[in-house]
Amino acid sequence: MTDPLLLDTTLRDGEQSPGIYFTSEEKIQLAEALDELGVSVIEAGVPQMGKEEKSVLRELCHRNLKADVLAWNRLAVEDVKASLECGVEHIHVSVPTSLVLLSKDLRKDSSWIQGQMDVVVGFALREGLTVSLGAEDASRTDPAFLASVFKHAEDIGVTRVRYADTLGILTPDKTKEVISFLTQRLRVPLDFHAHNDFGLATANSLAAWQAGARMISCSVMGMGERVGNTSLEEFIGTIHFLENGFPDFNFLRLKALCTLLSKMTDRPIPLHKPLFGKEIFRHESGIHVDGLLKDGSTYELFPPETVGGKRELIVGKHSGRAALKYLARQRGVALDDAQSQDFLNQMRAQMAVKKKSMRKRSFQSIYVIPPTP
Ligand SMILES: [Zn+2]
Repeated sequence: MTDPLLLDTTLRDGEQSPGIYFTSEEKIQLAEALDELGVSVIEAGVPQMGKEEKSVLRELCHRNLKADVLAWNRLAVEDVKASLECGVEHIHVSVPTSLVLLSKDLRKDSSWIQGQMDVVVGFALREGLTVSLGAEDASRTDPAFLASVFKHAEDIGVTRVRYADTLGILTPDKTKEVISFLTQRLRVPLDFHAHNDFGLATANSLAAWQAGARMISCSVMGMGERVGNTSLEEFIGTIHFLENGFPDFNFLRLKALCTLLSKMTDRPIPLHKPLFGKEIFRHESGIHVDGLLKDGSTYELFPPETVGGKRELIVGKHSGRAALKYLARQRGVALDDAQSQDFLNQMRAQMAVKKKSMRKRSFQSIYVIPPTP
C-alpha cells in the first residue's frame, strides 16, 4: 500500500483549539518545521479572518516550502478573494453537508450546495487556484448524497475532496464502510479529517487510509477543536511501526516539533502520550523489568532512543526482587534475597503512605545511608 499523504492543520484547526493563539512568527516557525518533517500540505490559516492571517499566508508563500500552503475558505466568493490577496495557489473550500448544519446553521437546503459550488469553485479555478472541496459534518450526511456532492466537485475540476468527521462520531468500522463507498466512486484523492471526541481519531484515520483515503489530515499533538484532531505523531508512529510505512522517518525531528508546540502553547506533552510521553519507557513491574533486563525486545517494540526516549527502571509497588537487585547493584549496593524482600516490604509500607515510586534518595535512605541511632 502506498504511504498516506499527510496534511497538517495545526495552524488552522489547531489554532481553533480553545485559548490557543499563535503569533505570526510562531506560525512561520511551525510551518517551516512541518515542511522539514515532510508533510505534503500545510493548512496554514483562514485569510478571511483578517490582515494578520493574510500576511502570514503571504509570507509562507514566499518561503519556497516543499509542502503546498493551503488556505481554508468557506464556500463563498469573498473568502476566495481573500485567499487570492495572499498569493496562495491552493485553497480548501468547506461546506456543511449534513441536514442539521444546512438547515439549522446555514438555513439552506441541500440543493443549494451544487449551485454554490459552481459559482465559488468555478471562480477559484478561473483565477488559477487548485481547489480542495470539503464536506463539513460529513459523518452525519447521507453517504449517497455526499457521493453526489463529491462527484459534482470532481466534475467541475476540484483536485481533492475532504471528508470531515466534524463531531468525531465515527468508529473504525463505520469509517471503513463509508470511505470505501466514496473512494470507489471517485477519481480524485480523498482527504480524511477526523476529530478525537471518543479517542478514535488515529484508529479512524488508519481505517480511512486502509479503505482508500489517500490523504490524512493531522495536527501536532492532535491540537484542534474540542478534543482535537488526529495526532500527527500518533498517526505517523502507527504507519511506521505497525504498517511498515514512512521508512527512515526522523522521529527526533518530530519530537522537537512537539516540544516546540508544547512550549508555544504552554500545554505539556502528557506523561503517557504515545511515542513522546515522559513515562512511556519507565518500567516498574517485576515481570516486565525482568524481561527487559534479559532483552529489550521483550516489552519494548522499538528501542526508546528511536523516538528520543530513554528506558528507565524504577522501584515501586510492583517491583520484583531481580529488578531490585539489579538497580541496587547499579548504585553499588549488593542485596541478597532476604534483604531484597525486606526492602520491598519496607518500600510498600512507605508507598502506602506517600503514594510515590521510590527515587534514588528513598532507596539510599533505607540501604545506603545507615539509619541514625
Ligand atoms: Zn476540524
